[in-house]
Amino acid sequence: MGYVFFWIAFCIVVAIVARSKGRSGIAWFFLSFLISPLLSLILVLVLKPAEVEVVVDEVGFDGSRDLNNDAYKLFLSKKYDIQKNDVFNKFVCREQMYPTIEEALVYAHGLEQELTAIRKSKLLDGGQIECCKCGGKNPADTSDCRYCGYKLET
Ligand SMILES: [Zn+2]
Repeated sequence: MGYVFFWIAFCIVVAIVARSKGRSGIAWFFLSFLISPLLSLILVLVLKPAEVEVVVDEVGFDGSRDLNNDAYKLFLSKKYDIQKNDVFNKFVCREQMYPTIEEALVYAHGLEQELTAIRKSKLLDGGQIECCKCGGKNPADTSDCRYCGYKLET
């Protein structure tokens, strides 16, 4: 009886290790119960973690910023959180609805270009920030343009 308890406890350990590696805990519990917890533990420890989460670069995108580029479209859809709304059967991006994913992507692409433009125009020699909207020169640590109030930071 004590042996059965030990066997099951060992299977639970295998399941927990499996879970921590992004595998199915239940599947590994039964697998180790059927073969051997020790063997399964070795197997699960040898296994590489299941999926490596794709981290979207918050700063920018290196490839071609072109709406024909699938990687760029994926980057946009993640960064601007484009999601399909099943109730309206439309795509939602920044609380706006678009009938097709292409239109939502065009909108996100516009936002992204705006951000890139701000980044490009904001730093001057001497550390000043030039407002990309009015061209006013602001001290380095300004977040809103002191001439027109346009947001300088991205
Ligand atoms: Zn300005």
